[in-house]
Amino acid sequence: MRYISTRGEAPVLNFEQAMLTGLARDGGLYLPETIPQFSTGEIAALESLPYGEAALRIIKPFLGESFSDDELTKALDAAYADFGHVARAPLRQLAPGHHLLELFHGPTLAFKDFAMQLIGQLFQIALKRSGQRITIVGATSGDTGSAAIEAFRGLDNVDVFILFPHGRVSEVQRRQMTTPDDANVHALALDGHFDDCQARLKDLFNDHDFRDQVGLAGVNSINWARVLAQVVYYFTAAVSLGAPGRVVDFTVPTGNFGDILAGLVAKRMGLPIGQLVVATNQNDILHRALTSGEYRVGEVEPSISPSMDIQVSSNFERALFWAYDSDPAAIRQIMAELKAGGFSISQGALQALQEDFMSGRASETETLDMIRTIRDETGEILCPHSAVGVKVAREKLRDGVPMITLATAHPAKFPDAVETAIGIRPDLPPHMQGLFDKAERQTRVENDVEALKSLILERRMA
Ligand SMILES: *Cc1c(COP(=O)(O)O)cnc(C)c1O
Repeated sequence: MRYISTRGEAPVLNFEQAMLTGLARDGGLYLPETIPQFSTGEIAALESLPYGEAALRIIKPFLGESFSDDELTKALDAAYADFGHVARAPLRQLAPGHHLLELFHGPTLAFKDFAMQLIGQLFQIALKRSGQRITIVGATSGDTGSAAIEAFRGLDNVDVFILFPHGRVSEVQRRQMTTPDDANVHALALDGHFDDCQARLKDLFNDHDFRDQVGLAGVNSINWARVLAQVVYYFTAAVSLGAPGRVVDFTVPTGNFGDILAGLVAKRMGLPIGQLVVATNQNDILHRALTSGEYRVGEVEPSISPSMDIQVSSNFERALFWAYDSDPAAIRQIMAELKAGGFSISQGALQALQEDFMSGRASETETLDMIRTIRDETGEILCPHSAVGVKVAREKLRDGVPMITLATAHPAKFPDAVETAIGIRPDLPPHMQGLFDKAERQTRVENDVEALKSLILERRMA
């Protein structure tokens, strides 16, 4: 299996190299050159399989020679062992024809655990084989950082440094990053905003000497291996509701477009998905782009669903690549225009996108209202991101086609928004109840790349 860059000017890599690299050198994103196809028989055979076994069948054709079946099986077992639900990604019915896919039973209570836990294991195997040591540095507004720390804590050959904006993450999010006591975990509270964290991260990657010296690696959501891990639950959910004998729709609370892109991959593999509905909060650039064809970047407006507060959706580039008939020159052109503020999607590409995607948005009030409505109608408490999804999904329900809305985080991760909506602060699940009693460990760091470099050099366990 060969991996190519959406911009066509980076080396072709195998799966393992694409995973360890993250971003392509030409600034593009890696994609498999061809998408493996699943027959209806192969899809039907996934029914009732344990999650890990379904994952093995779905992921394996993308790996080529990079990992053996035995290695992948062990990685999957270890990755999902600590999930709080035996189904890993259980479905719960909200209304006739509308189902919630609960993706928050992992160790940090957001869907990011599905991908991060698996790549933690795969990195470990690859590094053991090569004897290489790496330094993972990530920037987070909350969920990615905790998922990465949880996945890489205590692993040999890896140091993990997470930059988060000091004073600007929720207490649960902060404690998830500062309470693990493993020596290879370094939570860095940066004096600045999330944008500053991302900018300093880019500075580190752009310093090639430093990058080579510490073996810098990235695990943000553009990493292909993360997208691939998320393809699995589209299959398991659709099959439990009657696929491949039946078409299903999905609605996905969307920010960086990684999660919903996994749905598109599942569809291209042969899973009968009708509509993939992009649900955005008030930061609705994707909704506007998919309806008008104009992708114009504005200012991020902070919302009660912060993990979707984004203007430039990195993974959208992969959907654009396919919509532009896999033409890297077209992608280079529009990405250059994006640097200057935005671009117009061509008529043909927009039509292609609209064949797969629909979209909608939810305002802050609509999101709070939906948390309240679902609590009244079902007793279920939604996190604000999932509520954005449910609100948009209800507008797109079709007769006779089951709708599956992805619940991306546990409500206890966002207690303030939930309390505003229904006057209740949701409890943390049992495995996390000690969170508020544990000692915290974090380092304040200036918003300065040189300060960061010396800190990383001093702290890592070379
Ligand atoms: C990351 C995140 C999202 C957005 O997912 P993308 O893959 O970036 O589109 C939505 N909800 C929650 C809770 C998240 O953590």
